[in-house]
Amino acid sequence: MPTFQRPTRLQALAPSQIRDMMRLAMDVGAVNMAQGAPDFPAAPEVKLAAIRAIAEDKNQYSVTWGLAELREAVAARVARRFGLHADPEREVTITCGVTEAVVAALLATLETGDEVIIIEPAHENYLPATAFAGGVPRFVPLRPPKFALDVDALAAAVTPRTRVLILNTPHNPSGRVFTRAELLAVADLAERYNLLVLTDEIYDEILYDGREHIAFATLPGMAERTITTGGISKIYAVTGWRLGYVIAPPPLSAAIRTVHDYLTICAPTPFQHAALTALALPDAYYEQVRAAFHHRRARMMRILEQARFNATPPEGAYYVLADFSAWQFDGDDEAFARFLITDVGVAVVPGSAFYTGHPELGRRLVRFAFAKRDETFDEVERRFAAYWEQR
Ligand code: PLP
Repeated sequence: MPTFQRPTRLQALAPSQIRDMMRLAMDVGAVNMAQGAPDFPAAPEVKLAAIRAIAEDKNQYSVTWGLAELREAVAARVARRFGLHADPEREVTITCGVTEAVVAALLATLETGDEVIIIEPAHENYLPATAFAGGVPRFVPLRPPKFALDVDALAAAVTPRTRVLILNTPHNPSGRVFTRAELLAVADLAERYNLLVLTDEIYDEILYDGREHIAFATLPGMAERTITTGGISKIYAVTGWRLGYVIAPPPLSAAIRTVHDYLTICAPTPFQHAALTALALPDAYYEQVRAAFHHRRARMMRILEQARFNATPPEGAYYVLADFSAWQFDGDDEAFARFLITDVGVAVVPGSAFYTGHPELGRRLVRFAFAKRDETFDEVERRFAAYWEQR
């Protein structure tokens, strides 16, 4: 048997802790508050549209960049909702989720050894995507409990090799929605150091307390240096469909499309057709999504308080980083997450999983994902109450 060694560019990658926790949780029947997938159904008309597309034999490869009507619908949505204007013919590409969009964007823009600024806690895919593209991550932390953008720390992380800054707003896992002032400071930095800004705006419709989503590319001067990614996974509760998009100026889009064509050929065609039905839903749909998430956030925060966690209510997205210091648990976040699965029956993700560069900042935190049905909250509530009753 020949010996196998992972290539150098993959050696820094640990297996996904979220999936590790999920395996352990399934073994013991814990409630899944770890993974960011909704456990409630998608809209009936959207599901029917997918079934219809398959039945009508819309089952072959599409135009590699995505169906023209879908690119038009994506461009129309971001223009209507966020004032982001993009040419569907040359600036919008349909991908297999934001996950592929980020990989394709970095493969299309990085030279080996180029540096990528990753703000952490970070969604788990940014580091692997950087590694695939031969890039070098530079981690800049948002510190609990406020998770405010530290512009000086961002500026200090820039070197002559810095090419891309990845920005996620609304932010997983902190729940921050960055303010206009914070985003303008990032824009200023991008301009000053000639950086590309790769934004992940997948939670653009999931906002609380009247917060506003600002599409980064709409800030003055930013359209030409921003690669916007977004998708339909979260807003329409179809994470398994693997559909997202990239919006970027023509030269960047052309480079990204070249990567995308060879990486996946195209996003799943029947779901592209169904996505047309999703994107045609009226604005009332988004209002209803927001109201439902407002309710879920309230339930989540109440449960956390009752179970003696300390957490700031998220401003957007559907995650909360909760401090477990009051549990007086003798161990770190990874031990605590395992303990919650085995002894309480609730699966969460350890905070340090999101802080690759500064794991110490996550040691008192665990992440709850709360895109859940009422029955799921009921069960989580029962399990925490049972634990505290007998402790
Ligand atoms: N970006 C963020 C911030 C996420 O939280 C997730 C999923 O949890 C994704 C991207 C993945 O998106 P997609 O399903 O479009 O690949």
